[in-house]
Amino acid sequence: MIYMDNSATTAIYPEVLDAMMPYLREEYGNPSSKYYTLASNSKLAVEEARQKVAYLLGCEHDEIVFTSGATESNNMIIKGVLDYYNKNNGSIVTSSVEHPSVLETCNYLQSKGISVTYLAVDNMGRVSLDDIILAIKKQPTLLSVIWGNNEVGSLNPIETIASDCDKNGILFHTDATQVVGKVEFQLSKIPGIRFLSLSGHKLHAPKGIGVAYIKKQTKEIYSKITPLLHGGGQENNYRSGTLAVHNIVGLGKAAEVAKLKQKNTVQHLLNLEKQLTILLKEKFHDKIKFNNDHSNKIPGILSIQFIGLNNELLIKKLAPYLAISTGSACSSSKPSHVLQEMGLPVSEIRQTLRISLSAINTTEDISFFNNL
Ligand code: PMP
Repeated sequence: MIYMDNSATTAIYPEVLDAMMPYLREEYGNPSSKYYTLASNSKLAVEEARQKVAYLLGCEHDEIVFTSGATESNNMIIKGVLDYYNKNNGSIVTSSVEHPSVLETCNYLQSKGISVTYLAVDNMGRVSLDDIILAIKKQPTLLSVIWGNNEVGSLNPIETIASDCDKNGILFHTDATQVVGKVEFQLSKIPGIRFLSLSGHKLHAPKGIGVAYIKKQTKEIYSKITPLLHGGGQENNYRSGTLAVHNIVGLGKAAEVAKLKQKNTVQHLLNLEKQLTILLKEKFHDKIKFNNDHSNKIPGILSIQFIGLNNELLIKKLAPYLAISTGSACSSSKPSHVLQEMGLPVSEIRQTLRISLSAINTTEDISFFNNL
């Protein structure tokens, strides 16, 4: 079976699994315990992983907070910022094509009296910079915009948005879950990003581990948030709970590999995407239509309409040979809100498939489409 649903999740790299295994077998110490080697070994492993993630993101190691995944990071940052900075009449600006872990968090806060503005997007799923400028003028407590879309791959102009927020003193968060390892950036060079979320299982690490990046403003002062989980005070008091050492080590290794291979990965994904696009166009001519454009997007994510076909039936038919999806795995039964917001009618959404590639895919995988 050929796997091309990498925006939903990715295979764990063998070297990631190898790095994790000792921490599931003999190195089972709690990194918060003291004095004995089992504990200090775990602590060391966590801190090494933190350094590797920080190196990938281009930030300081103590700006990394380990969470259970991007859903938790998004919840923690958005709820935490709103609680800390504005107890009474806070406001959030976000986009209408965010992942449900952002949208539902904002909906929840709205039900508690927070004012939320959902910015419209263009036909490629991007917010407009004019709308961002207008939104900033209203001085929201937090602005949160997804970096790269999980359904169509479109990239938002995050560096410009971050810089506009920075100049106007607005706290800015971005969900970078789909871009890490596929878009090169250095957080130290984008000071306007005060908060960022990512997830391990989108970059060949295990499920159940993620990161909330919380920028240090000066050496000592962090962008503050109220923690989501209160307890023993792990992770600099931002995220209590015994650390999942094996998962953290896995994420650290995956981050190391991602950084090392980033340039090759991007080129490989661009090559595969080109090969696939040419093949599909030659084979299906006007019977297919691309929902995404081919530049300014995450390499390897394609959203394609197969005109006149039902996407669910097509996926079911292909399932023994090929794993792809209709859109987001998180809400695959409903018509995609992302495509709706991009202005597609339901009839076009019902014939859309998402193909998402990873570094593991090969040109032979792409040749599968010759058999359709
Ligand atoms: N944000 C985006 C853009 C995603 O694609 C996903 C995963 N589908 C998430 C957040 C949630 O990540 P996790 O599965 O780690 O909770």
